[in-house]
Amino acid sequence: MVEDDETIGAALLAGLSGHGHTVTWEKTAAGALDAARVHPFDLVLLDLGLPDLDGVEVCRRLRLAQPGTILVILTARRDEIDVVVALEAGADDYLTKPFRFAELLARVRAHLRRSAASPPGGGAELVLGELVVDVPARRVTLAGTEVPLRAKEFDLLNRLAVDAGTAVSREDLMTDVWDAHWFGSTKTLDVHVAALRRKLGAAAGSRAVPEIVTLRGHGYRLEAPHS
Ligand code: CA
Repeated sequence: MVEDDETIGAALLAGLSGHGHTVTWEKTAAGALDAARVHPFDLVLLDLGLPDLDGVEVCRRLRLAQPGTILVILTARRDEIDVVVALEAGADDYLTKPFRFAELLARVRAHLRRSAASPPGGGAELVLGELVVDVPARRVTLAGTEVPLRAKEFDLLNRLAVDAGTAVSREDLMTDVWDAHWFGSTKTLDVHVAALRRKLGAAAGSRAVPEIVTLRGHGYRLEAPHS
């Protein structure tokens, strides 16, 4: 947990510890980045408004230090731009202050449960043309080139690949990938789709790109690349 506000930090520390989580509390970006370099964390709660470094920059550096962690940002900012930029910088999810502790706890539990659970697709490898989703290894290749994906990007692509060629609703994607049907975090989904498109496009080079088709008012559909 990275939080410079003593009152909020103390309350979160007590609440999360009381529910069985082991919490390390850092009050500055420098402290958080030092901790991230030496200790792997399952999940990071990051206040975007820290005294010593811009929150988005902290996101970017934390993501580099810990590619596998779940990064949830806490923001008092009303500005949606900040949330989108932070998601693009590596955050997986966000909560806007003020939030109820029960909501935060539910979100933390959902993320940890999801990252521990086996993803849809079982132990299989999903092969869609030149796109291969290796579920046990959590690795994606396109024509033999590995596509570097973050945890939620992999989960999202995997979910779309399981139902390739079929429309998947936004609600199903939010529930299955973020376990977040209780809030309308559409920005989170859209930013992750944009990142997937960008990374698949970069890996494809001059080859056909697997297309994530936007279905307005419904959701998305993955089309396998035509070889
Ligand atoms: Ca703050």
